[in-house]
Amino acid sequence: MPYASGVRLPGESASKLGHLAVIQSDWVRALVGEFEAAKAVEQDPSNTLWEIFSADGVTPLRNVWAVDGSFVSIQSEHNPPREVAFVKTALLTVDRMRLEAIDKNHPHPLLLQDVLTGSAVFHATVFPLKNVRTALGTNYDAVRHIVRDSMKIDEGGAFYETLKWIAYRKWDKTSKSTSPGFQCPHCHKDIVQGLPHDADEGTCQNCAKTVFLTDMIGFHLDMDEESAPDSVASAYMLIMETLMLFTAIRVLWGHTDKSLVTETLFIKDGPLTLRSQYSKLVPNIRGFLQHAKDASRPVHVIGQEKSGAFFDHLASIVRFAQPHGRGQPPSFAVLSHEFVRREVHRSPDLANPYGKRTNWGEKVYLKVDPGTYMVLNVPTGDYLDDVSMPGKDQLIGLQRIIATLPSLVSHKFEGALFPVELANGIASMSSYPSASILQRFINAQTP
Ligand SMILES: [Zn+2]
Repeated sequence: MPYASGVRLPGESASKLGHLAVIQSDWVRALVGEFEAAKAVEQDPSNTLWEIFSADGVTPLRNVWAVDGSFVSIQSEHNPPREVAFVKTALLTVDRMRLEAIDKNHPHPLLLQDVLTGSAVFHATVFPLKNVRTALGTNYDAVRHIVRDSMKIDEGGAFYETLKWIAYRKWDKTSKSTSPGFQCPHCHKDIVQGLPHDADEGTCQNCAKTVFLTDMIGFHLDMDEESAPDSVASAYMLIMETLMLFTAIRVLWGHTDKSLVTETLFIKDGPLTLRSQYSKLVPNIRGFLQHAKDASRPVHVIGQEKSGAFFDHLASIVRFAQPHGRGQPPSFAVLSHEFVRREVHRSPDLANPYGKRTNWGEKVYLKVDPGTYMVLNVPTGDYLDDVSMPGKDQLIGLQRIIATLPSLVSHKFEGALFPVELANGIASMSSYPSASILQRFINAQTP
């Protein structure tokens, strides 16, 4: 295609990229022109719809629960190397009033200890990944049994009870739901009907072998007979974070003080997303949140994304949004599915409704002050098929959530929430025995 006559893109004659043959494409010329001109953008090219937050008549939430996790895989010096993964997740609650008394820049250790005493639980387990043999069976079966036992044993089975509560929709006292369907870990045929209501295990109709409720989650789909990749550890961490957060929700939901669950903010580090086989839990999680909304007992949950496409997009446009000075009210932007596709993912993938299968929260940008901004995920309950959705009114408790967050901002890390930082401290690598001790431990196991 010939150039349109008389059009000279800025910098073309002396362009560093001008020698490329492909420059003859008008599209490439336009792109190179944009790139080399590098003029400062004066307004948000994605036209994000920000709105100033008004705290008038909005009561902040009283209590906060936060969950976070980490995992580390360790190799022995054997040949071939043995590999195991340690996973740790932590759930803690903080009283917002007591938290407000703490200096977020230099928290006093004793005050911090006081806030945390008796208010944190953690869960830890270890998985064989490669070349670890137990007398009981293959690596594959070892991981399946460890998943089941780890969930069942800890905290008197409270996390496992939450798995059953979600799998069998037990918030509904009349529910006779079976579990979501899943693939048999033995013969790999689909167990379409799932397990019978409230069952801990069942029998595969095809191969007659025993399957566990924890097999429904699907960790075995990431493994082969002899080894498991790191992704089993990261998936387990994500599932446990979700189950621990919902344990707090489940217990407060059943509390005699019916207002307690609604007066609480539940925070998960990372997006409210479960991908691939793990997404089979999403419809039930959405179902519960919708049920709570319909019963006028809304449950306030957020996820915070600290990296990825949304975080990068927000970082690139946040300077155009209010507030520009300290002491001004925060502003927020609720991203519709259409906006996410067009401006963040830049892919008009119309075949699949955005996030329908995998997400149980929608995306929201929040700018608290000129230096503090965050990407939040906030649930709606049921999925909204309209691409112009969601709006602020569809997000569960958005106003009360935003009214609560400024008091939780940590000033140690940019855009961090203090309760998540505390949960991270408990769940992080630094509280594992050091890697060398772990390595000595697996080296010492007799072959
Ligand atoms: Zn089977």
